[in-house]
Amino acid sequence: MARELKIVKLLEPEMCFECRFAEIADVEAENGTVQRMIHCRRLDCDNWDMQTAEPAKGFWEIDEAA
Ligand SMILES: [Zn+2]
Repeated sequence: MARELKIVKLLEPEMCFECRFAEIADVEAENGTVQRMIHCRRLDCDNWDMQTAEPAKGFWEIDEAA
């Protein structure tokens, strides 16, 4: 499965927090830094700032309920 991972800035973070597709994830950037951020699974989400998109190396979903 070759899904391209991208780190994209959210224009309105609250907007994705309230939608049912948002999850918290740790994302590793190409330079090795790991950041906790919102993962929006909605593919047609229009809350993304695609101009700042950069490739991501790794991705771990955080299960908040655990
Ligand atoms: Zn969203």
